[in-house]
Amino acid sequence: MKPYSLFSLLRNSVAYHQNWQQAWRSPEPQKHYDIVIIGGGGHGLATAYYLAKECGIRNVAVLEKGWIGGGNTGRNTTIVRSNYLLDESAGIYEHSMKLWEGLSQDLNFNVMFSQRGLLHLAHSVHDMQEIGRRGNAIHLNGIDSEFLTPAQIKEMVPLINLDCRYPIMGGLLQRRGGTARHDAVAWGYARAADALGVDIIQNCHVEGFDIQQNEVKAIRTSRGTITADKVGCVVAGHSSVLAEMAGFRLPLESVPLQALVSEPVKPVLDCVIMSNGIHVYVSQSDKGELVVGAGSDAYNSYSQRGSFDQIEHVVGPLVELFPIFSRLRMLRQWGGIVDVTVDRSPILSKTPVNNLFFNCGWGTGGFKCTPGSGHLFAHSLASGDMHPKAAPFSINRFNTGALVDEGAAAAVAH
Ligand SMILES: Cc1cc2nc3c(=O)[nH]c(=O)nc-3n(C[C@H](O)[C@H](O)[C@H](O)COP(=O)(O)OP(=O)(O)OC[C@H]3O[C@@H](n4cnc5c(N)ncnc54)[C@H](O)[C@@H]3O)c2cc1C
Repeated sequence: MKPYSLFSLLRNSVAYHQNWQQAWRSPEPQKHYDIVIIGGGGHGLATAYYLAKECGIRNVAVLEKGWIGGGNTGRNTTIVRSNYLLDESAGIYEHSMKLWEGLSQDLNFNVMFSQRGLLHLAHSVHDMQEIGRRGNAIHLNGIDSEFLTPAQIKEMVPLINLDCRYPIMGGLLQRRGGTARHDAVAWGYARAADALGVDIIQNCHVEGFDIQQNEVKAIRTSRGTITADKVGCVVAGHSSVLAEMAGFRLPLESVPLQALVSEPVKPVLDCVIMSNGIHVYVSQSDKGELVVGAGSDAYNSYSQRGSFDQIEHVVGPLVELFPIFSRLRMLRQWGGIVDVTVDRSPILSKTPVNNLFFNCGWGTGGFKCTPGSGHLFAHSLASGDMHPKAAPFSINRFNTGALVDEGAAAAVAH
Protein backbone atom coordinates (compact mmCIF):
# COMPACT_ATOMS: atom_id res chain seq x y z
CA MET A 1 0.00 0.00 0.00
CA LYS A 2 1.40 3.35 -0.99
CA PRO A 3 1.23 5.80 1.94
CA TYR A 4 -0.90 8.91 1.55
CA SER A 5 1.24 12.06 1.68
CA LEU A 6 1.32 15.64 0.41
CA PHE A 7 3.42 14.41 -2.52
CA SER A 8 0.96 11.69 -3.52
CA LEU A 9 -1.83 14.29 -3.33
CA LEU A 10 0.09 16.69 -5.61
CA ARG A 11 1.08 13.89 -8.02
CA ASN A 12 -2.47 12.62 -8.31
CA SER A 13 -4.02 16.06 -8.66
CA VAL A 14 -1.83 16.65 -11.74
CA ALA A 15 -3.13 13.32 -13.11
CA TYR A 16 -6.78 14.36 -12.50
CA HIS A 17 -7.04 11.81 -9.65
CA GLN A 18 -7.25 8.93 -12.15
CA ASN A 19 -4.41 6.84 -10.69
CA TRP A 20 -5.22 6.45 -7.00
CA GLN A 21 -4.64 2.91 -5.81
CA GLN A 22 -7.83 1.18 -4.57
CA ALA A 23 -8.09 1.68 -0.83
CA TRP A 24 -8.79 -2.02 -0.21
CA ARG A 25 -9.23 -5.18 -2.30
CA SER A 26 -12.46 -7.10 -2.84
CA PRO A 27 -11.23 -10.69 -2.53
CA GLU A 28 -13.24 -13.88 -2.92
CA PRO A 29 -13.67 -15.61 0.46
CA GLN A 30 -11.16 -18.39 1.19
CA LYS A 31 -12.31 -21.73 2.57
CA HIS A 32 -10.56 -21.26 5.92
CA TYR A 33 -9.30 -18.42 8.13
CA ASP A 34 -7.57 -18.43 11.49
CA ILE A 35 -10.05 -15.84 12.72
CA VAL A 36 -13.27 -14.59 11.15
CA ILE A 37 -14.82 -11.33 12.28
CA ILE A 38 -18.53 -10.96 11.52
CA GLY A 39 -19.56 -7.33 11.01
CA GLY A 40 -17.69 -4.73 9.00
CA GLY A 41 -18.41 -1.75 11.22
CA GLY A 42 -15.70 0.25 12.94
CA HIS A 43 -15.37 -2.21 15.83
CA GLY A 44 -15.03 -5.25 13.55
CA LEU A 45 -12.56 -3.56 11.23
CA ALA A 46 -10.51 -2.22 14.15
CA THR A 47 -10.40 -5.75 15.63
CA ALA A 48 -9.08 -7.14 12.35
CA TYR A 49 -6.50 -4.35 12.06
CA TYR A 50 -5.07 -4.88 15.56
CA LEU A 51 -5.11 -8.68 15.11
CA ALA A 52 -2.90 -8.25 12.04
CA LYS A 53 -0.76 -5.42 13.34
CA GLU A 54 -0.20 -6.29 16.99
CA CYS A 55 -1.00 -9.98 17.33
CA GLY A 56 0.66 -11.15 14.10
CA ILE A 57 -2.50 -12.98 12.95
CA ARG A 58 -3.07 -12.04 9.33
CA ASN A 59 -5.15 -14.92 8.01
CA VAL A 60 -8.25 -12.99 9.03
CA ALA A 61 -11.51 -12.17 7.23
CA VAL A 62 -14.14 -9.54 7.99
CA LEU A 63 -17.57 -10.62 6.71
CA GLU A 64 -20.04 -7.79 6.15
CA LYS A 65 -23.59 -8.34 4.92
CA GLY A 66 -23.79 -4.91 3.25
CA TRP A 67 -21.02 -2.38 2.80
CA ILE A 68 -18.44 -1.51 5.43
CA GLY A 69 -19.50 1.28 7.75
CA GLY A 70 -23.14 1.01 6.54
CA GLY A 71 -24.36 0.11 10.04
CA ASN A 72 -24.18 2.30 13.11
CA THR A 73 -20.62 3.34 12.33
CA GLY A 74 -21.85 5.46 9.43
CA ARG A 75 -25.01 6.61 11.25
CA ASN A 76 -23.81 7.98 14.56
CA THR A 77 -23.30 11.55 15.72
CA THR A 78 -19.55 10.96 16.18
CA ILE A 79 -19.15 12.04 19.80
CA VAL A 80 -15.97 10.87 21.51
CA ARG A 81 -15.38 11.15 25.26
CA SER A 82 -14.08 9.10 28.18
CA ASN A 83 -15.85 10.76 31.13
CA TYR A 84 -17.67 7.75 32.60
CA LEU A 85 -18.28 7.09 36.28
CA LEU A 86 -16.85 3.69 37.15
CA ASP A 87 -13.27 2.42 37.16
CA GLU A 88 -14.04 -0.39 34.70
CA SER A 89 -15.48 2.13 32.21
CA ALA A 90 -12.63 4.59 32.75
CA GLY A 91 -10.26 1.74 31.90
CA ILE A 92 -11.84 0.94 28.57
CA TYR A 93 -12.97 4.40 27.38
CA GLU A 94 -9.74 6.17 28.32
CA HIS A 95 -7.77 3.38 26.65
CA SER A 96 -9.77 4.23 23.56
CA MET A 97 -9.24 7.98 23.94
CA LYS A 98 -5.48 7.47 23.98
CA LEU A 99 -5.69 5.43 20.78
CA TRP A 100 -7.85 8.15 19.15
CA GLU A 101 -5.14 10.69 19.94
CA GLY A 102 -2.65 8.94 17.62
CA LEU A 103 -5.09 7.23 15.25
CA SER A 104 -4.69 9.35 12.09
CA GLN A 105 -0.92 8.89 12.21
CA ASP A 106 -1.22 5.19 13.02
CA LEU A 107 -3.58 4.52 10.10
CA ASN A 108 -2.00 7.10 7.76
CA PHE A 109 -5.60 8.24 7.21
CA ASN A 110 -7.11 11.47 8.47
CA VAL A 111 -10.01 10.46 10.72
CA MET A 112 -10.62 14.16 11.46
CA PHE A 113 -10.42 13.62 15.20
CA SER A 114 -11.22 16.99 16.73
CA GLN A 115 -10.77 17.46 20.49
CA ARG A 116 -13.01 20.51 20.61
CA GLY A 117 -14.30 19.84 24.12
CA LEU A 118 -17.52 18.26 25.33
CA LEU A 119 -19.76 20.02 27.82
CA HIS A 120 -22.43 18.21 29.86
CA LEU A 121 -25.03 20.66 31.15
CA ALA A 122 -26.71 20.42 34.56
CA HIS A 123 -30.26 21.78 34.96
CA SER A 124 -31.25 20.68 38.47
CA VAL A 125 -29.85 19.90 41.90
CA HIS A 126 -29.89 16.24 40.94
CA ASP A 127 -27.93 16.96 37.75
CA MET A 128 -25.41 18.97 39.79
CA GLN A 129 -24.99 16.05 42.20
CA GLU A 130 -24.55 13.65 39.29
CA ILE A 131 -21.85 15.71 37.56
CA GLY A 132 -20.21 16.37 40.94
CA ARG A 133 -19.97 12.69 41.75
CA ARG A 134 -18.90 11.71 38.24
CA GLY A 135 -16.43 14.60 37.84
CA ASN A 136 -14.67 13.63 41.06
CA ALA A 137 -14.60 9.95 40.09
CA ILE A 138 -13.13 10.90 36.71
CA HIS A 139 -10.42 12.96 38.43
CA LEU A 140 -9.53 10.03 40.66
CA ASN A 141 -9.03 7.95 37.52
CA GLY A 142 -6.60 10.55 36.17
CA ILE A 143 -8.92 11.67 33.35
CA ASP A 144 -9.47 15.35 32.56
CA SER A 145 -12.68 17.07 33.58
CA GLU A 146 -13.59 20.55 34.79
CA PHE A 147 -16.66 22.02 36.49
CA LEU A 148 -17.96 25.21 34.89
CA THR A 149 -20.21 27.86 36.39
CA PRO A 150 -23.08 29.30 34.33
CA ALA A 151 -20.95 32.42 33.68
CA GLN A 152 -18.08 30.29 32.38
CA ILE A 153 -20.49 28.35 30.17
CA LYS A 154 -21.85 31.59 28.70
CA GLU A 155 -18.32 32.79 28.00
CA MET A 156 -17.49 29.53 26.24
CA VAL A 157 -20.80 29.22 24.32
CA PRO A 158 -22.11 32.77 23.79
CA LEU A 159 -25.28 31.67 21.94
CA ILE A 160 -26.56 29.51 24.79
CA ASN A 161 -29.71 30.49 26.69
CA LEU A 162 -28.89 29.96 30.38
CA ASP A 163 -32.43 30.84 31.49
CA CYS A 164 -34.25 28.16 29.57
CA ARG A 165 -37.24 26.29 31.04
CA TYR A 166 -34.87 24.33 33.29
CA PRO A 167 -32.15 26.96 33.85
CA ILE A 168 -28.53 25.86 33.47
CA MET A 169 -26.87 25.57 36.89
CA GLY A 170 -23.42 24.35 35.85
CA GLY A 171 -21.54 22.01 33.55
CA LEU A 172 -18.91 19.30 33.35
CA LEU A 173 -16.36 19.84 30.60
CA GLN A 174 -14.00 17.28 29.11
CA ARG A 175 -11.62 19.28 26.94
CA ARG A 176 -10.15 16.17 25.32
CA GLY A 177 -13.62 15.05 24.19
CA GLY A 178 -14.94 15.94 20.75
CA THR A 179 -15.80 14.35 17.45
CA ALA A 180 -14.27 12.34 14.58
CA ARG A 181 -15.38 11.63 11.02
CA HIS A 182 -17.22 8.29 11.26
CA ASP A 183 -16.83 7.11 7.64
CA ALA A 184 -13.14 7.91 7.74
CA VAL A 185 -12.75 5.69 10.78
CA ALA A 186 -14.23 2.71 8.91
CA TRP A 187 -12.27 3.46 5.73
CA GLY A 188 -9.00 4.08 7.59
CA TYR A 189 -9.19 0.80 9.50
CA ALA A 190 -10.30 -1.09 6.37
CA ARG A 191 -7.42 0.25 4.30
CA ALA A 192 -4.82 -0.41 6.97
CA ALA A 193 -6.16 -3.92 7.74
CA ASP A 194 -6.28 -4.80 4.04
CA ALA A 195 -2.67 -3.68 3.63
CA LEU A 196 -1.69 -6.17 6.34
CA GLY A 197 -3.43 -9.02 4.49
CA VAL A 198 -6.92 -9.03 6.04
CA ASP A 199 -9.67 -10.04 3.57
CA ILE A 200 -12.62 -7.63 3.75
CA ILE A 201 -15.60 -9.38 2.19
CA GLN A 202 -18.64 -7.20 1.61
CA ASN A 203 -22.09 -8.43 0.54
CA CYS A 204 -21.50 -11.56 2.59
CA HIS A 205 -24.45 -12.30 4.84
CA VAL A 206 -23.84 -14.67 7.74
CA GLU A 207 -26.78 -17.06 7.90
CA GLY A 208 -25.75 -19.65 10.49
CA PHE A 209 -22.99 -21.51 12.32
CA ASP A 210 -21.79 -25.10 12.24
CA ILE A 211 -21.26 -26.03 15.86
CA GLN A 212 -19.93 -29.43 16.87
CA GLN A 213 -19.46 -30.58 20.47
CA ASN A 214 -20.16 -27.06 21.65
CA GLU A 215 -17.39 -25.55 19.51
CA VAL A 216 -17.87 -23.30 16.48
CA LYS A 217 -16.35 -24.89 13.39
CA ALA A 218 -17.71 -22.93 10.45
CA ILE A 219 -19.80 -19.97 9.38
CA ARG A 220 -22.53 -20.41 6.81
CA THR A 221 -22.77 -17.35 4.57
CA SER A 222 -24.53 -16.19 1.42
CA ARG A 223 -21.14 -16.76 -0.28
CA GLY A 224 -20.51 -20.28 0.96
CA THR A 225 -19.32 -21.97 4.14
CA ILE A 226 -16.10 -20.72 5.72
CA THR A 227 -14.27 -22.63 8.43
CA ALA A 228 -12.40 -20.78 11.16
CA ASP A 229 -10.45 -21.51 14.34
CA LYS A 230 -12.11 -18.61 16.15
CA VAL A 231 -15.04 -16.31 15.39
CA GLY A 232 -15.61 -12.78 16.70
CA CYS A 233 -19.14 -11.45 16.32
CA VAL A 234 -19.37 -7.64 16.16
CA VAL A 235 -22.75 -6.91 14.61
CA ALA A 236 -24.20 -4.17 16.87
CA GLY A 237 -28.02 -4.04 16.40
CA HIS A 238 -28.15 -7.65 15.16
CA SER A 239 -26.27 -9.30 18.03
CA SER A 240 -29.31 -11.22 19.29
CA VAL A 241 -30.01 -12.47 15.77
CA LEU A 242 -26.51 -13.94 15.53
CA ALA A 243 -26.69 -15.27 19.10
CA GLU A 244 -29.91 -17.09 18.25
CA MET A 245 -28.14 -18.71 15.28
CA ALA A 246 -25.55 -20.00 17.78
CA GLY A 247 -28.24 -21.27 20.14
CA PHE A 248 -28.13 -18.86 23.08
CA ARG A 249 -29.75 -15.59 24.16
CA LEU A 250 -28.13 -12.26 24.98
CA PRO A 251 -29.41 -9.92 27.71
CA LEU A 252 -29.99 -6.92 25.47
CA GLU A 253 -32.69 -5.16 23.49
CA SER A 254 -32.52 -3.70 19.99
CA VAL A 255 -34.12 -0.29 19.53
CA PRO A 256 -33.94 2.41 16.87
CA LEU A 257 -31.93 5.54 17.66
CA GLN A 258 -32.07 8.53 15.38
CA ALA A 259 -30.26 11.74 14.55
CA LEU A 260 -30.77 14.74 12.28
CA VAL A 261 -28.69 17.46 10.67
CA SER A 262 -29.54 21.04 9.76
CA GLU A 263 -28.63 23.03 6.71
CA PRO A 264 -25.00 24.20 6.89
CA VAL A 265 -24.25 27.55 8.49
CA LYS A 266 -21.12 29.51 9.38
CA PRO A 267 -19.26 28.37 12.52
CA VAL A 268 -21.48 29.04 15.57
CA LEU A 269 -20.63 26.23 17.98
CA ASP A 270 -17.08 25.06 18.59
CA CYS A 271 -17.68 22.37 21.21
CA VAL A 272 -20.10 19.51 21.78
CA ILE A 273 -23.07 20.28 24.03
CA MET A 274 -24.96 17.54 25.83
CA SER A 275 -27.91 17.86 28.16
CA ASN A 276 -29.07 14.75 29.96
CA GLY A 277 -31.73 16.75 31.84
CA ILE A 278 -33.72 18.05 28.89
CA HIS A 279 -32.30 15.47 26.47
CA VAL A 280 -30.49 16.85 23.49
CA TYR A 281 -26.95 16.84 22.22
CA VAL A 282 -25.55 18.94 19.41
CA SER A 283 -22.29 19.76 17.66
CA GLN A 284 -21.39 21.49 14.42
CA SER A 285 -19.76 19.47 11.67
CA ASP A 286 -16.85 20.75 9.61
CA LYS A 287 -19.35 21.27 6.76
CA GLY A 288 -21.31 23.62 9.01
CA GLU A 289 -24.35 21.41 9.64
CA LEU A 290 -25.63 21.12 13.19
CA VAL A 291 -25.59 17.44 14.11
CA VAL A 292 -28.40 16.74 16.57
CA GLY A 293 -28.88 13.51 18.47
CA ALA A 294 -32.35 12.33 19.45
CA GLY A 295 -33.47 9.67 21.90
CA SER A 296 -34.05 6.02 21.25
CA ASP A 297 -37.52 4.64 20.64
CA ALA A 298 -39.23 2.90 23.53
CA TYR A 299 -40.01 -0.24 21.51
CA ASN A 300 -37.92 -2.96 19.88
CA SER A 301 -37.51 -2.71 16.14
CA TYR A 302 -35.09 -3.43 13.32
CA SER A 303 -36.21 -0.49 11.15
CA GLN A 304 -33.38 1.97 10.61
CA ARG A 305 -35.71 4.95 10.95
CA GLY A 306 -37.16 5.80 14.34
CA SER A 307 -40.43 7.51 15.18
CA PHE A 308 -41.52 11.11 14.57
CA ASP A 309 -42.24 11.92 18.21
CA GLN A 310 -38.52 11.56 19.03
CA ILE A 311 -37.77 14.33 16.55
CA GLU A 312 -40.22 16.62 18.33
CA HIS A 313 -38.69 15.66 21.69
CA VAL A 314 -35.22 16.68 20.58
CA VAL A 315 -36.01 19.81 18.61
CA GLY A 316 -37.88 21.34 21.59
CA PRO A 317 -34.87 21.26 23.97
CA LEU A 318 -32.53 22.29 21.16
CA VAL A 319 -34.49 25.48 20.58
CA GLU A 320 -34.74 26.11 24.32
CA LEU A 321 -30.96 25.97 24.65
CA PHE A 322 -30.29 27.88 21.43
CA PRO A 323 -33.33 29.98 20.44
CA ILE A 324 -31.43 31.22 17.36
CA PHE A 325 -31.49 27.67 15.92
CA SER A 326 -35.27 27.88 15.51
CA ARG A 327 -34.62 29.61 12.18
CA LEU A 328 -32.66 26.67 10.77
CA ARG A 329 -34.13 24.07 8.45
CA MET A 330 -33.40 20.42 9.14
CA LEU A 331 -32.02 18.66 6.08
CA ARG A 332 -31.74 14.96 6.85
CA GLN A 333 -32.90 12.48 9.47
CA TRP A 334 -31.96 8.82 9.84
CA GLY A 335 -31.79 5.99 12.36
CA GLY A 336 -29.73 3.00 13.36
CA ILE A 337 -30.44 -0.08 15.49
CA VAL A 338 -28.63 -0.07 18.80
CA ASP A 339 -28.33 -3.02 21.18
CA VAL A 340 -28.83 -1.84 24.73
CA THR A 341 -27.94 -3.71 27.94
CA VAL A 342 -29.58 -3.10 31.32
CA ASP A 343 -26.45 -1.48 32.79
CA ARG A 344 -25.72 0.57 29.64
CA SER A 345 -22.27 -1.03 29.39
CA PRO A 346 -21.00 -3.21 26.54
CA ILE A 347 -20.46 -6.95 26.35
CA LEU A 348 -16.99 -8.18 25.36
CA SER A 349 -17.06 -11.82 26.16
CA LYS A 350 -16.62 -15.48 25.56
CA THR A 351 -19.95 -17.23 25.01
CA PRO A 352 -21.47 -20.62 25.85
CA VAL A 353 -20.04 -21.81 22.49
CA ASN A 354 -16.28 -22.41 22.53
CA ASN A 355 -14.18 -20.20 20.26
CA LEU A 356 -17.15 -17.94 19.56
CA PHE A 357 -16.71 -14.47 21.06
CA PHE A 358 -19.13 -11.53 21.10
CA ASN A 359 -18.43 -7.80 21.17
CA CYS A 360 -21.75 -5.95 21.38
CA GLY A 361 -24.15 -4.05 23.64
CA TRP A 362 -22.49 -0.71 22.97
CA GLY A 363 -25.97 0.73 22.79
CA THR A 364 -26.16 4.39 22.00
CA GLY A 365 -22.49 5.15 22.68
CA GLY A 366 -20.00 2.76 21.08
CA PHE A 367 -18.46 4.94 18.40
CA LYS A 368 -16.18 6.60 20.95
CA CYS A 369 -14.75 3.23 21.86
CA THR A 370 -14.11 1.97 18.32
CA PRO A 371 -10.29 1.92 18.68
CA GLY A 372 -10.32 0.68 22.29
CA SER A 373 -12.91 -2.01 21.70
CA GLY A 374 -11.12 -3.28 18.57
CA HIS A 375 -7.77 -3.27 20.35
CA LEU A 376 -8.94 -5.17 23.44
CA PHE A 377 -11.09 -7.59 21.45
CA ALA A 378 -8.18 -8.39 19.11
CA HIS A 379 -5.92 -9.24 22.04
CA SER A 380 -8.68 -11.31 23.64
CA LEU A 381 -9.33 -13.27 20.42
CA ALA A 382 -5.64 -13.85 19.86
CA SER A 383 -4.99 -15.20 23.36
CA GLY A 384 -8.33 -16.94 23.81
CA ASP A 385 -8.80 -15.13 27.14
CA MET A 386 -10.42 -11.77 27.72
CA HIS A 387 -7.98 -8.87 28.12
CA PRO A 388 -8.00 -7.60 31.76
CA LYS A 389 -9.56 -4.28 30.64
CA ALA A 390 -12.32 -6.19 28.81
CA ALA A 391 -12.88 -8.83 31.49
CA PRO A 392 -15.38 -6.79 33.60
CA PHE A 393 -17.65 -6.64 30.54
CA SER A 394 -18.17 -10.39 30.40
CA ILE A 395 -21.64 -11.77 29.78
CA ASN A 396 -21.34 -13.51 33.20
CA ARG A 397 -21.97 -10.24 35.00
CA PHE A 398 -25.68 -10.61 34.29
CA ASN A 399 -25.60 -13.83 36.34
CA THR A 400 -23.33 -12.68 39.14
CA GLY A 401 -24.89 -9.22 39.45
CA ALA A 402 -21.51 -7.45 39.06
CA LEU A 403 -23.05 -4.92 36.69
CA VAL A 404 -21.14 -1.88 35.42
CA ASP A 405 -23.97 0.60 35.79
CA GLU A 406 -23.37 3.64 33.59
CA GLY A 407 -27.03 4.64 33.37
CA ALA A 408 -26.31 8.23 34.38
CA ALA A 409 -23.12 8.76 32.38
CA ALA A 410 -24.87 7.37 29.32
CA ALA A 411 -28.24 8.95 30.12
CA VAL A 412 -28.50 11.10 27.02
CA ALA A 413 -28.76 8.57 24.23
CA HIS A 414 -25.49 8.74 22.39
C1 LIG B 1 -28.21 7.79 15.53
C2 LIG B 1 -27.04 7.26 16.32
C3 LIG B 1 -26.21 8.15 16.99
C4 LIG B 1 -25.12 7.67 17.72
N1 LIG B 1 -24.26 8.57 18.26
C5 LIG B 1 -23.13 8.14 18.89
C6 LIG B 1 -22.18 9.08 19.37
O1 LIG B 1 -22.33 10.29 19.20
N2 LIG B 1 -21.09 8.62 20.01
C7 LIG B 1 -20.89 7.28 20.22
O2 LIG B 1 -19.90 6.92 20.85
N3 LIG B 1 -21.76 6.35 19.72
C8 LIG B 1 -22.87 6.74 19.06
N4 LIG B 1 -23.77 5.82 18.54
C9 LIG B 1 -23.53 4.39 18.75
C10 LIG B 1 -22.50 3.86 17.76
O3 LIG B 1 -22.86 4.22 16.45
C11 LIG B 1 -22.36 2.36 17.84
O4 LIG B 1 -22.23 1.93 19.18
C12 LIG B 1 -21.12 1.88 17.09
O5 LIG B 1 -21.02 2.51 15.84
C13 LIG B 1 -21.19 0.40 16.89
O6 LIG B 1 -20.18 0.03 15.99
P1 LIG B 1 -20.10 -1.42 15.44
O7 LIG B 1 -18.92 -1.50 14.55
O8 LIG B 1 -20.18 -2.38 16.57
O9 LIG B 1 -21.48 -1.60 14.68
P2 LIG B 1 -21.95 -1.32 13.18
O10 LIG B 1 -21.25 -0.17 12.57
O11 LIG B 1 -23.44 -1.30 13.20
O12 LIG B 1 -21.42 -2.60 12.45
C14 LIG B 1 -22.04 -3.88 12.54
C15 LIG B 1 -22.08 -4.46 11.16
O13 LIG B 1 -22.54 -5.82 11.24
C16 LIG B 1 -23.19 -6.08 10.03
N5 LIG B 1 -24.03 -7.29 10.17
C17 LIG B 1 -25.17 -7.41 10.89
N6 LIG B 1 -25.67 -8.65 10.74
C18 LIG B 1 -24.82 -9.32 9.92
C19 LIG B 1 -24.80 -10.64 9.37
N7 LIG B 1 -25.76 -11.54 9.66
N8 LIG B 1 -23.78 -10.98 8.53
C20 LIG B 1 -22.79 -10.09 8.23
N9 LIG B 1 -22.78 -8.83 8.72
C21 LIG B 1 -23.77 -8.45 9.55
C22 LIG B 1 -24.00 -4.82 9.76
O14 LIG B 1 -24.35 -4.70 8.39
C23 LIG B 1 -23.04 -3.73 10.23
O15 LIG B 1 -22.31 -3.14 9.17
C24 LIG B 1 -24.87 6.26 17.82
C25 LIG B 1 -25.72 5.36 17.15
C26 LIG B 1 -26.79 5.85 16.39
C27 LIG B 1 -27.67 4.88 15.65
